[in-house]
Amino acid sequence: MPELPEVEVVRRGLARWVRGRSIKTAEVLDARSVRRHAAGAEDLRANLEGAVVLDAVRRGKFLWMPLRGEGEQPTAPPTQALMAHLGMSGQLLVEDSHQPDEKHLKVRLVLGEAHDADGTPLPAELRFVDQRIFGGVFLSRLVPTPDGQPGGLAETPLPLVPEEAAHIARDPLDPAFSRDAFHAALRRRKTGLKRALLDQGLVSGIGNIYADEALWAARLHYARATDTIRRPETERLLDAVQDVMARALDAGGTSFDSLYVNVNGASGYFARSLNAYGREALPCPRCEEQGLATLIRRESFMNRSSYTCPVCQPRPRNGRW
Ligand SMILES: [Zn+2]
Repeated sequence: MPELPEVEVVRRGLARWVRGRSIKTAEVLDARSVRRHAAGAEDLRANLEGAVVLDAVRRGKFLWMPLRGEGEQPTAPPTQALMAHLGMSGQLLVEDSHQPDEKHLKVRLVLGEAHDADGTPLPAELRFVDQRIFGGVFLSRLVPTPDGQPGGLAETPLPLVPEEAAHIARDPLDPAFSRDAFHAALRRRKTGLKRALLDQGLVSGIGNIYADEALWAARLHYARATDTIRRPETERLLDAVQDVMARALDAGGTSFDSLYVNVNGASGYFARSLNAYGREALPCPRCEEQGLATLIRRESFMNRSSYTCPVCQPRPRNGRW
């Protein structure tokens, strides 16, 4: 499953290669990949052809491209967006037309001609490739954000969000993310800290891996009761979340310059620099630095696993699971 930094890599690729370009033709090669578009593949095609991709926007793991439909005024706010749901294995590739179709090519958009700053033509096609069919693309209506802030992280932010993404909270990389509001919401919940981090209604885009890494970095146990959390602890936790995501983004950044917008761009990061996640019975790096031979512990949590250091992250006396 792609995590937030991987989706952000894709967003930046789209912003660079696709933003501002028109869609000349749209071809659906597998109707299963557009099943979320209730009006059907033909309606999707008709809406996409002639539209202009205005931007690439992300909130949590939701990714969308606001469109200006054919005949719509350039000054009017866009009314719909193309959502890209990557699922388990979805990829968005920007490629030249002469490149052979991928085995699992599902949707092809042929884009209007465009050139980079030195006059080199940009690749002509945006392709959605998906091996396992859990992902897909569809159109969603843009609605105003309740707080009047931008809908998500974007190149040219607009206070609009697709209906499908309106229910989820902002993510910690969103410039409009409020630490005050997050801390207050955390204190109002009566739950465990990791459960709260995974709750998309409270904060979006934090999956199991980043939750464990951030809790380890902030030296907080996953079962810490959220209604007892103090402001400095919330600050430490959010700093850790932002830091671990920024490092993952740096590691995934190598794909920005290629013609390849790849959801797996950040995967190398996981193998190299994880401190807790997936490290059962391996030394805690922070304890090791202090000459302690503490081993990371794995426990079952919400049908998955939690990885903690028993010394750095002591179990709370009145924890919540
Ligand atoms: Zn430790």
